[in-house]
Amino acid sequence: MKIQELLRDHAIAIQQVDRSKIRSNAVIFRVPDGGHIIFLDRGLPDNLKLFSLAHEAAHLDLGLLYTKTSQYDMGIERRVDRRAIDLLEDALAPGMYAVLLEKFDASEGALFGCLAKDAVFRPEALAWLKGSLG
Ligand SMILES: [Zn+2]
Repeated sequence: MKIQELLRDHAIAIQQVDRSKIRSNAVIFRVPDGGHIIFLDRGLPDNLKLFSLAHEAAHLDLGLLYTKTSQYDMGIERRVDRRAIDLLEDALAPGMYAVLLEKFDASEGALFGCLAKDAVFRPEALAWLKGSLG
């Protein structure tokens, strides 16, 4: 899957943390010694964990990482969500890529509402997620 390749190529490690430690579903940082780390809310449902990993990897893929001083930007978040859907194309159940794009075009709420449903991802993608998170 594309998401696996991206995590490997950019040396992105994943660490699950309590929601109180981060202000969103997930956040990505550059590690001083090289590579990156994603802190992921351990309380999220699996679908949202997988989407959040793709979202954070997409920040890196697009060169749109926040710095300590940059402000949260909805325009950036939209572009990153759109790239995350592409990164997940081969992890999605048949037909879901077109559905997610349609929801994305509708609104962020529609996209996340759809992600909350079962059968969005292929079973092997969710199995990979569980294996990666330990
Ligand atoms: Zn983001």
